[in-house]
Amino acid sequence: ERVFSPMAKSAILERIAKGEQSILLLNRRGFSTSLICPDCGYVPKCPNCDVSLTYHRVGDELRCHWCDYKTPAPDVCPNCGSENFKYRGKGTQKIEIQLYDFVEPERVLRIDSDAIERKGSLNRILEKFASKRGSVLVGTQMVAKGHDYPNVTLVVVIDADVGMAMPDFRAGEKTFQLLSQVAGRAGRGERHGRVIIQTRHPDKPAVQFAVKNAYKEFFAHSIARRRELDYPPFSRLIRIVAKSQNSQLAENTLRKILRELLKEKLSGIFPLSPTEPPIAKLKGEYRWHLLIKAKDIRNILPFLRRVARAKFKNVKVRIDIDPYDMM
Ligand SMILES: [Zn+2]
Ligand SMILES: [Zn+2]
Repeated sequence: ERVFSPMAKSAILERIAKGEQSILLLNRRGFSTSLICPDCGYVPKCPNCDVSLTYHRVGDELRCHWCDYKTPAPDVCPNCGSENFKYRGKGTQKIEIQLYDFVEPERVLRIDSDAIERKGSLNRILEKFASKRGSVLVGTQMVAKGHDYPNVTLVVVIDADVGMAMPDFRAGEKTFQLLSQVAGRAGRGERHGRVIIQTRHPDKPAVQFAVKNAYKEFFAHSIARRRELDYPPFSRLIRIVAKSQNSQLAENTLRKILRELLKEKLSGIFPLSPTEPPIAKLKGEYRWHLLIKAKDIRNILPFLRRVARAKFKNVKVRIDIDPYDMM
C-alpha cells in the first residue's frame, strides 16, 4: 500500500529544495478497530444508525457501538471484492518507512504519543519547527491547531478517510472541521500555500465542501442528514455510561435502568440497546453505555434525575445530554 501519492511526494521535495516547510497530518486519533477497505475505501456502516461498524477479531464480527447491531465480518470487501479487507498494516510505521525513502530522517520532526506524554517535549518540537529546524513535521490534529508557521507552504493530509470511518455520526463533520483547519495552516506567511488531501473519496461532502471552503453548504448538507436520522438538534441524544471493575455489573445496571425506563411508557423517548462503547475499557474500568433519543427531553428529565440520584453498588453511572464524545 502506497502512503504518498506522486503528487504529495513531489510537492514535499519541491518545498525542501526551496527551503520551505511541510506539515504531514495523520488523522488517526488512536482508533484502531475501524475497518476501511484498503483498496476502495469502503467503510461498513450500521443499517440503523449510519455510524461506522467496528471490527472485532473475537467472533470475527462487525459491531455497532450505538445500538448493539452485530453481523459476521465479510471476508472480502462488499463494495469492490478486495481480499485485503480485514488486514491492515501498521499505520505510523509504514508512513515513516516510506517517508525516509525520499526525505533524509534528520529533516523530519515527529510528534508521537511519547512526545505528547513527556512534559514540555511537544512544545520543544513545535518551537524547533517554528525556528525552521526540520523541513517536515509529522503529527496528528494538534499540529493543525493554533500555531503559526510562516514558512509552511504545504500541508498533506495523509489519509482523510480514517477520520470519516470513526464510529460517530459526526465523523463527516469532524473531518470537515479538521480539513478546514489545516487549510488555514498552509501559507500563513507571504508565500502561497498548498494543501493536499489524500482520500479515496474525493466526492464525499466533507472533502468537497472543505476544499471549497463552503461552510454554509456543508452545514445545509449535514443538517438535512441529521433531520433524516432524527439526530440532534431534531431530537436530544442522551448517553448513560456505566463504569465498573466488573463488566457484567455495568451491563446489568444499564439493563435495569432500561427496564425501569420502558415501564414509564414515556412518549417520544426512544432508547437503543445497552452496548459497549468503542472504548470498552478505560483506566481499569469496564464501560457500557445506553443511548436514548428524546423528541422532547422534558418527558424524560424526571426519570434522569432519579437515575442521577440513585446509588448503584460498585458501579458509577454518568448521564450526558448531547455528548460530543461518543467513545
Ligand atoms: Zn473495497
Ligand atoms: Zn447501530
